Amino acid sequence: MQDHFNYIIVGGGVSGSIIAEGLVAKGHSVLMLEAGKFFYTNNYPRFDIDSNSQMYWNGGVELTSDAEIGLVRPKMIGGGSIINGGLLDRFDDLAFEGFKDESGVDFFNNLVMTPWFEKVENTTSIVKVPEKFANKNADIFREGFKANGFRCDLLDRGQTDCRNSEGMDCIECLAGCPINSKQSTMITYVRSALKQGLKVFSEFEVKRIEPGEKVKVHGLDRLDKKWSFSADKLVLASGSIGNSKLLMNSNFKNPNIGKRFYTHPQYMLMAEFDYNIDAYKGPLQSYKSNDLNFRRKGFKLENVFAPPAAMSVLFKGIQDEHFYCMKNLRRFASIEVAIRDTNPGEIRVGKHNKTIVHKELDSVDLKRRDLGYDAIKNIFYSQGAKRVIEGEFGIGLHLMGGCSIGVDGSQSVVDPEFKLHDQKNIFCADSSIFPNAPGINPSLTIMALSKMAVEKFI
Ligand SMILES: Cc1cc2nc3c(=O)[nH]c(=O)nc-3n(C[C@H](O)[C@H](O)[C@H](O)COP(=O)(O)OP(=O)(O)OC[C@H]3O[C@@H](n4cnc5c(N)ncnc54)[C@H](O)[C@@H]3O)c2cc1C
Repeated sequence: MQDHFNYIIVGGGVSGSIIAEGLVAKGHSVLMLEAGKFFYTNNYPRFDIDSNSQMYWNGGVELTSDAEIGLVRPKMIGGGSIINGGLLDRFDDLAFEGFKDESGVDFFNNLVMTPWFEKVENTTSIVKVPEKFANKNADIFREGFKANGFRCDLLDRGQTDCRNSEGMDCIECLAGCPINSKQSTMITYVRSALKQGLKVFSEFEVKRIEPGEKVKVHGLDRLDKKWSFSADKLVLASGSIGNSKLLMNSNFKNPNIGKRFYTHPQYMLMAEFDYNIDAYKGPLQSYKSNDLNFRRKGFKLENVFAPPAAMSVLFKGIQDEHFYCMKNLRRFASIEVAIRDTNPGEIRVGKHNKTIVHKELDSVDLKRRDLGYDAIKNIFYSQGAKRVIEGEFGIGLHLMGGCSIGVDGSQSVVDPEFKLHDQKNIFCADSSIFPNAPGINPSLTIMALSKMAVEKFI
């Protein structure tokens, strides 16, 4: 393989895929370096225990330093878009205002961002989850909302035809969609980029970067063989934790690196009914809260479930109590509350390159969570639940920040042209640049920002 490229992209996830496609379309030579594997349609793991170990960093879950939140970090070409829920939402004014106030960046408003959302939406099929296939878990959510006077709506999801009429159960696509309905960036961008000449080195972990006229990148392949490459420009797209660790390990001195880390901590509550809910059947998720009151109070609800290995981690208790829940899994419904967290966390690198994440909920965040708990309990009990069990710990799926964007170089890492403040040729537009938590599913905005970055600045 050649060792010099116009561009090297570190990380082949949501942002990396879009930027790669944009750059090769402009005729540049581009190398994508991705620590995870190259999965595709017919080789996704079929059991959740295998997908946990093969598609995520460190076997599935990394705990925060106080072990209160489990962070879930995808690791493969396509990144989060292969295994995520596929829910694609535009930011609202509240989210943009939060970003603008924190960063001072002008383009965080609906007027400027709308064309970039549209560009992504034109390449990605986004539909309302078809209501006619809603399962009993979704029915409980919808009817419980009605009974309590809350407002909910069908979810907007990146998918084509999930073949629910043929009995497909979407819970499987949390380990990659075997029928290519979910609109992962593998389907929407990487395939096209490969045809246009993108070079991909998967199972290659970048360990260090050296800035300069030509940026050097050093890393290890899956056999621990060392490789080095160089490029005129480097794009960091290895996510919140990936980018922060890489910059710290490469001795970048900006003190803001690793700061302002947010996760939208999510808590699943499970309710036992005296009949089978079979929450794993059909579409995994159908509804979300669409209630201004919830939004103002800083939380949102989604109807959700998870594969057995994940559920077993969430149920408290040992021996008989735990065994009872797992044996009766079919009778449990589940709703999740995700909070718009206000207390920033911090990413650090410990001994032996260990990821250390400090992330605690302060009193504001705890209040948001408790208001969500109350709403969920009211929903479940209005629908005849026998009891409600709170999940054992929080889950961090939306990992954001660590390299926040901002006009002020003393307060942020990336400038409004998606370039590292103190560098000429290192760029970033992924989830790590989020200056705070928007309280809205982040993927569509990561995609829109990546589009904007590659077409205007990089
Ligand atoms: C289970 C789950 C469900 C989710 N559901 C939704 C949803 O419904 N809607 C939504 O909007 N968001 C959802 N998310 C969040 C969403 O997937 C992420 O916000 C998004 O993937 C972040 O995009 P990114 O490009 O910043 O990083 P990623 O997509 O995570 O990509 C980063 C890539 O960089 C690679 N990498 C990291 N370090 C290195 C290194 N040193 N060398 C080489 N490669 C490296 C990683 O392996 C990874 O593949 C979900 C996440 C999870 C885990």
